[in-house]
Amino acid sequence: MKLITRGALGWPASAAPAQATAGGVKVHYTGGDVPVSLLKNHAGCVALWKDFRKAHLANVAEGYSDIAYNYGACWHGYVLEGRGAGRRTGANGNQALNRYDYAVLGLVGKTGLTEPNDGLLHALRDAIEHLQEHGAGNRIGGHQDGYATLCPGGPLYSWVRKGAPRPTVWTPVVPKPGAGRPVVDLSKLISAALADPPRSGTPVSYEGVRVVEDALVEERLLARALADGHFGTATRAAYGLWQMRCGYKGEDADGLPGLASLTKLGKRRGFSVTP
Ligand SMILES: [Zn+2]
Ligand SMILES: [Zn+2]
Repeated sequence: MKLITRGALGWPASAAPAQATAGGVKVHYTGGDVPVSLLKNHAGCVALWKDFRKAHLANVAEGYSDIAYNYGACWHGYVLEGRGAGRRTGANGNQALNRYDYAVLGLVGKTGLTEPNDGLLHALRDAIEHLQEHGAGNRIGGHQDGYATLCPGGPLYSWVRKGAPRPTVWTPVVPKPGAGRPVVDLSKLISAALADPPRSGTPVSYEGVRVVEDALVEERLLARALADGHFGTATRAAYGLWQMRCGYKGEDADGLPGLASLTKLGKRRGFSVTP
């Protein structure tokens, strides 16, 4: 486990109530916007985690004694220490729920970065197993289990429902001899999608867009004539349809690519994905 301790964060020992055991662990997301730029900025993960503690300590209505979560998990595979093991969480919705289960937060957003990458899932799994070794039972749930909330959001909750498995190493389909397998860089693709209103005739900002558009054409989600190398309105709508086909709904199918849906598309249509 790659742990960033409270000491490394510059925090004192937790003032949260001691609690030696819990029935299991509940998984949470941020419920807010997590900017895509975080993928290339681990310092941003740490800053976001610190912001949560600041906001929780400033929350007079709840009267938190510390950041509400026991641990956090970031996009780069790090576990961020919160209250830690052996302390009661304040994040599960009410006092009874806080006694039943520990709480871990994935730095996943409601907008921006909405689909966890493998690094984040490894870190969540590390935090869960660490809590299990220190008094947590085997139950793994989402915040919405037993409490009226959207947390932890569609993509993360579907992972929880599968039993929160550790991601397996993905073995690509063997490419055809002589044919190079294209690699699509997710963060560059997202930048192109955010920056590219369709501007026909202007230079293409990222060549990987063409690879994804070809795949969407092959899936009959995008008209061939609209595959122009720009991740504009039509491409975004087509990608949203692909996300819906993958089972996402509402804001989770907004047409901004996420790692899970893009990897699925690549597996079917012959490209690899790097976060
Ligand atoms: Zn939550
Ligand atoms: Zn990070």
